[in-house]
Amino acid sequence: MSDSTTPKLDFIREIIAADLATGKHATTITRFPPEPNGYLHIGHAKSICLNFGIALENQATHGKCHLRFDDTNPEKEETEYVESIKEDVKWLGFDWGDDLYFASDYFDFFHDCAVHLIKEGKAYVEQQSAEEMRANRGNLTTPGTPSPFRDRPLEENLDLFARMKAGEFKEGECVLRAKIDLASSNMNLRDPVLYRIMHAHHHNTGNQWCIYPLYDFAHPLEDALEHITHSLCTLEFENHRPLYDWFIEHCPVPSKPRQIEFARLNLTYTIMSKRKLLELVQGGHVSGWNDPRLPTISGLRRRGYPPEAVVHFCKRVGITKFSGTTDVALLEFDVRDFLNHSAPRRMGVLDPVKVVLENWATEPLTHVEVPNHPQNPDMGERRIPISAEIWIEREDFMEVPEKKFFRLGPDRHVRLKGGHIIRCTGFEKDATGTITLIRAVILPGTVGADSPAGIECKAAIHWVDVATGQDAQVRLYDRLFTIENPEEAPGGFLSVINPDSLQTVTAKIEPALATAAAGFSCQFDRIGYFVADAADHHPGTQPVFNRTVALRDSWAKKAGR
Ligand code: ATP
Ligand code: MG
Repeated sequence: MSDSTTPKLDFIREIIAADLATGKHATTITRFPPEPNGYLHIGHAKSICLNFGIALENQATHGKCHLRFDDTNPEKEETEYVESIKEDVKWLGFDWGDDLYFASDYFDFFHDCAVHLIKEGKAYVEQQSAEEMRANRGNLTTPGTPSPFRDRPLEENLDLFARMKAGEFKEGECVLRAKIDLASSNMNLRDPVLYRIMHAHHHNTGNQWCIYPLYDFAHPLEDALEHITHSLCTLEFENHRPLYDWFIEHCPVPSKPRQIEFARLNLTYTIMSKRKLLELVQGGHVSGWNDPRLPTISGLRRRGYPPEAVVHFCKRVGITKFSGTTDVALLEFDVRDFLNHSAPRRMGVLDPVKVVLENWATEPLTHVEVPNHPQNPDMGERRIPISAEIWIEREDFMEVPEKKFFRLGPDRHVRLKGGHIIRCTGFEKDATGTITLIRAVILPGTVGADSPAGIECKAAIHWVDVATGQDAQVRLYDRLFTIENPEEAPGGFLSVINPDSLQTVTAKIEPALATAAAGFSCQFDRIGYFVADAADHHPGTQPVFNRTVALRDSWAKKAGR
């Protein structure tokens, strides 16, 4: 049932719709299975939106999405990561309800499945070294050579596996392998390893285990145990699917999940591998996992990206089988678009120069009323104090104005946003030629009124009152890397870090901004979107703002787009 008003389903949703229509499944159960060994990034957001999105779309049949921590590797996981992952999923607007699982709770089941495979003659304990195993695996043109241990008697396998579990062997002395097909053109089927020995402490099971299952073995079993209907993963697992299916077929599982692969999200000017993100964090190249320049979800949050914009972006990128790299400008576009509607306007001057209004006494106001949003009257108005001295943006004045420069210059007029039209009467410079002060006069009667006849005033500029304005630290973030694909930099991704990715300035802000709560997001008129920093901003005493995104895409201009 598709007409022009029904959006076209992606191929995964088509499969799911068909499975529901034919009655293969009565509902859908998907899962998001992060390994708690790092913070989530926007690539994970794509997977979260897909898996939780499908559950939401299938509410009518009680569709669900599990949050499952894939914590089978004892060495890498940390509880800090578990907490951050939960926070990030919630922030994106999704809810796992009661369906929160830890793969480490299934260790007994994995073990039982391994014993089952041994009893079926489908697994054996291998005692060759890792190098020997590698050498005997063959390659695409040569089949593998059977291990001398491949045909051990069943009882011996059971005994050895029990002794592996009992801790009688050192790491690397033996592993458990599936007995599948040494001639398979799919290398994953050439007797893959199921269990290895690791004398390591696990955050959940302590020292109970010294054998740990490998991802390829554990994952299908986790899915089956949780009655996952559609196990959605990224394309690099396509070649592992025959193995996934083999485990589902040969292990005593309670359900038969189906693995479907889709293209991962890649973004220009950033990196997404957790290992490399960790390198940036540990190497001190950024301030932490939530540094606003990182593509981590916590970084985007601290940067002021609205979750709705991130979700919208993930939807727009779509689900396909084709891998590619998405222009980060698309994400920034969504962020701007969302904030344009939702963010109230405020005034801040990033590069201030003082203007003295010499005839202020002719119409001395105490404040002006300014709408909080140009298109949305529901956001109301605010009163901003004003007096005889104000700060304006240095670039809003030109000593010798260029053609089409409609702002302030000697003897020129400009409007102060929400206030008077002013005319520049003079300026002062220091020895280096830098303007230190601008003199101007107000045109009485022009607040809220059109320009008087014969006066050309085409622009309104933002300003901050000197008497009541406050200093704020403003962090101007830019792309973390100078090239589109940092992973391909000949000198490695660390060699292409953008030295200007963070500039800190002391700006002047209107008084109401100084007392805004941490996390408050607004547009600084004519400049961009800013958010009061979640960690360092202290209302009233220490205002700190992060630039979320500039109003215009300066990179597009540079690239001639
Ligand atoms: P690594 O392989 O570096 O450990 P990972 O990003 O694969 O990291 P997981 O915790 O295993 O980390 O990922 C959880 C889920 O998120 C997986 O289902 C994975 O396929 C998905 N995922 C990870 N990166 C992306 C991406 N860039 N785009 C879409 N989905 C992704
Ligand atoms: Mg992974």
